[in-house]
Amino acid sequence: MEKICVAVRVRPPVAQETSSSTYWRVEDNRISLHKTLGTPISGVSHAFDHVFDQSCANARVYELLIKDIIHAAVEGFNGTAFAYGQTSSGKTYTMNGSESDPGIIHLAVKDVFRRIQMTTNREFLIRVSYMEIYNEEINDLLAVENQKLQIHESLENGVFVAGLREEIVNGAEQVLKIIESGEVNRHFGETNMNARSSRSHTIFRMVIESKEKDSNYSSDYSSTDAIRVSVLNLVDLAGSERIEKTGAGGVRLKEGKYINKSLMVLGNVINKLSDGAKQRGHIPYRDSKLTRILQPALGGNAKTSIICTVAPEEVHIEETKGTLQFASRAK
Ligand code: ADP
Ligand code: MG
Repeated sequence: MEKICVAVRVRPPVAQETSSSTYWRVEDNRISLHKTLGTPISGVSHAFDHVFDQSCANARVYELLIKDIIHAAVEGFNGTAFAYGQTSSGKTYTMNGSESDPGIIHLAVKDVFRRIQMTTNREFLIRVSYMEIYNEEINDLLAVENQKLQIHESLENGVFVAGLREEIVNGAEQVLKIIESGEVNRHFGETNMNARSSRSHTIFRMVIESKEKDSNYSSDYSSTDAIRVSVLNLVDLAGSERIEKTGAGGVRLKEGKYINKSLMVLGNVINKLSDGAKQRGHIPYRDSKLTRILQPALGGNAKTSIICTVAPEEVHIEETKGTLQFASRAK
């Protein structure tokens, strides 16, 4: 069982705060809550594999948390990386980046094709898909007509999303264009917390298939390594904030309930996985669409990283504590 790598990332402050009596301090791999006049607030201090402060660029997050997953994926191992946190804490910034600071997905796609070029003894077939889970419904971001897709399971294919479009791709630029077109189809909603907050989970997936060059694998039983298939998921989760805070009713309330439930299931699955050796019990993958879809690349010998993003502002303290608790459970 691979260890799950857990990091916390603090984004830069966006709003000028008029008065503040507390702040988060990052030291090495530890984050703690302090009074502005200096003393730490007891009980609110957590250590993780990594803690990134506001000056950290996406490239560094990639280097420390994602690169190994990508390299292993090219070699045939499944992998999944998540961005978890309340709306406005920097999940999408981490996954998608900005013009001057390309995000995890961009860096991963580039790296995959770089590694493939270096692997001269194998030939590759790469497929990408991009989907969202909105109110426990799966929609295809690469083909808007593909709505409410179903999860199927077969002996041959394992767990898969039936009808999801998969594009065969040959280079990084092509993939980035495809993602851009899919981006337009993401569900956005207005809440009190953020004018354009994402209310859905989005999963960008690459399936990396490779075979030995010049190997006649069908007749060569000694070479079990002839064909490899791996799945890589890069996941931008829906905002983890509690429902009350968004002051929502009706549709927003319904969204919030679905989000809270699926994030709770994700937390349970990850918690069980990280307890691995101690508690080899039932892992509740089937309790949400998200965990079902990710199941083949979550647990076992799949590599997993979680980036928990937090907002530094005092108004967000309770949500930040909640995110740090989620992160602590995942360790
Ligand atoms: P989320 O996806 O969690 O709702 P966003 O990624 O949209 O949050 O971030 C909210 C705002 O903060 C955006 O304007 C984004 O550009 C900015 N932001 C987030 N993280 C960073 C960062 N590490 N550096 C600079 N700006 C950031
Ligand atoms: Mg977002």
